[in-house]
Amino acid sequence: MTAKLSVLNQHLIDPEICIRCNTCEETCPIDAIVHDSANYVVKADVCNGCMACISPCPTGAIDNWRKVAKDEAYSIDDQFTWMELPAQGTIAASMEAANDAAPAAEEAVSPTTEAPVSVSTEAKVEVDTARGAKVPPWSAAHPYLNLYTHKKPITATVQGNYRLTADGTSSDVRHIVLDFGSVPFPVLEGQSIAIIPPGTLPNGKPHHARQYSIASPRNGERPGYNNLSLTVKRVEDEDGKPAGVCSNYVCDLKKGDRVQVIGPFGASFLMPNHPRSNLLMICTGTGSAPMRAMTEYRRRRRARGTTAPESRSAQDTPPTGKLMLFFGARTKEELPYFGPLTNLPKDFIDTTLAFSRQPGQPKKYVQDALKERKADVAKLLADDDTYIYVCGVKGMEDGVLEALAEAAGAGWEALWTRLKDEGRLHFETY
Ligand code: FAD
Repeated sequence: MTAKLSVLNQHLIDPEICIRCNTCEETCPIDAIVHDSANYVVKADVCNGCMACISPCPTGAIDNWRKVAKDEAYSIDDQFTWMELPAQGTIAASMEAANDAAPAAEEAVSPTTEAPVSVSTEAKVEVDTARGAKVPPWSAAHPYLNLYTHKKPITATVQGNYRLTADGTSSDVRHIVLDFGSVPFPVLEGQSIAIIPPGTLPNGKPHHARQYSIASPRNGERPGYNNLSLTVKRVEDEDGKPAGVCSNYVCDLKKGDRVQVIGPFGASFLMPNHPRSNLLMICTGTGSAPMRAMTEYRRRRRARGTTAPESRSAQDTPPTGKLMLFFGARTKEELPYFGPLTNLPKDFIDTTLAFSRQPGQPKKYVQDALKERKADVAKLLADDDTYIYVCGVKGMEDGVLEALAEAAGAGWEALWTRLKDEGRLHFETY
């Protein structure tokens, strides 16, 4: 009788593709994913292969597996040192042909034969711990993903860098325009890119890329041009000194500078393409970037001839759905795009601003504003053509869900599930 070998299909993260966005660590329901300053890694003894982290990962770096002898599984200390994934070892070579095991399944196999002699895998059930959808709206355009990677980034040229917040306020938020010349970089509203800051970490390794939401529509910041815009906040320490590696690099870019970009990322936080869809957009600070992209796309489409239902006169113009925006910032002066936003026609977008530190006014957060307007929010929630987008500070998620639940009333739990299943509730918080 041959000795049996316990084999693990070990879950690993590709350090060359990973953009360290923390999504996997946040998604993992059993805390199997951790990180240090270099890499995100998976604890072999904790991961149960539930797959909850797979679809939220914007790059696909999360979806890597190596068959290893269980007692030789890669430790997290091994994984922290990796610059690239190890090649598949010989165990897999012998198993590969014989067995297509479930992720993280343990198998008792005979090393002397190619076939597993016994397989004991419990059915793995995907755990839905997500607050939002993992699928895009049914009518979303198909996104391009990961066209450019750490190994092969694209070079963009800075076309502009404008301050969006009032001078004298402590938050420096910038509108950055990047041009890709004649090199293809197709994007959709709601997607993001990542920028690789120059220089290295103290250990000599290159800085990893930081992700930024695209703030312009699919046909360019300037329509018909191969460019896009970003909304970037300078990260400072408590004393107002520059603290963030990439945000400070980006905020200091000058016209004509060249930048290393990877992406695009994001396969589900995408806008519906059918004109009658309603958009309920809830954001804070730089979370306004994807909302600007979607709003501008709809504004350009309206300018081409589609009109709001109330003002529709021509029979041949298809109706457009409603746009409702809840936008929070500390003060009016710190709200990016305040001027252009407040100039948009009222019959195009219904905007409610919430300021948490406006002198002389009580603190108001976006969730408070949602509650104040709950009758209108309820009308949108009752419409199967409503798509909800939440972007900005992570701390807003619970409050926003609570406010949506209050507006929806008794049927919220069932509606929440349906919104997720139908790609109609999306979160991008950081
Ligand atoms: P780091 O050098 O990584 O961090 C320096 C220090 O600052 C650390 O101690 C860190 O904890 C702290 N820090 C990091 N971020 C913040 C913060 N926001 N406030 C206070 N302290 C902080 N950022 C944008 O400006 N615009 C966007 O559109 C945008 N979109 C994003 C989309 C996604 C999906 C994700 C995951 C992130 C997004 N970010 C966006 C955040 C961005 O990727 C960076 O995390 C941010 O710019 C800080 O990077 P940094 O290199 O400057 O800071």
